Amino acid sequence: MNLYPLSLQRLVRELSKLPSIGEKSAMRLAYYLVNDKKDVARSVAESLLAASESIGLCSECFFFCETGSLRDKQGFSLEHNTLCPICIAPGREKTVFCIVEKPVDVVAIEKTGEFNGLYHVLHGLWSPLKGVGTDEIKLDELMKRVNENGVKEVILGLNATIEGDATCLYICDLLREKSVNVTRLAQGMPKGGELEYSDEVTITRAFHGRVQL
Ligand SMILES: [Zn+2]
Repeated sequence: MNLYPLSLQRLVRELSKLPSIGEKSAMRLAYYLVNDKKDVARSVAESLLAASESIGLCSECFFFCETGSLRDKQGFSLEHNTLCPICIAPGREKTVFCIVEKPVDVVAIEKTGEFNGLYHVLHGLWSPLKGVGTDEIKLDELMKRVNENGVKEVILGLNATIEGDATCLYICDLLREKSVNVTRLAQGMPKGGELEYSDEVTITRAFHGRVQL
């Protein structure tokens, strides 16, 4: 028999749905929030709601941006002509794209100050083993942007994993007929290593040592 009040049980259940939060951690968080941190509970709840309702994807590069209420099939808000701060920044090289898997990778690369082009966030990697097809990541959108923007160089900033390698090969194939210089961040990136966990020096080295594909 669960002796906890129903509302506390519900809170623990919901918290344990979050990535890397097990039932014990969820219980600890719930206890912290309901015990004597009601002001924290309120501000966490309010900021969660506000963020989930106002954060969407840039209609060009699919990085995060503040946007309206139109949502795509993954539930992300998506309103046309809503651009992220990078896409609207003056002085960025609009014919060089760096392709990454996740929004957090954009932040990791931006911290180095090494890259002054635009990004394209795929929101996943091609992974037949995990049942993720090429049509489930933002590849059609990439090709549309490459065609419309006269892109000269594409830098593949994808992780050195099986899925990252497969996605790089697939994109290379898509771009083969175009006059686009395709390179990949390689040197210094650990095999199987993830961009988001790499330090700035490692990413900077990876940019300088990028290899021609
Ligand atoms: Zn953007």
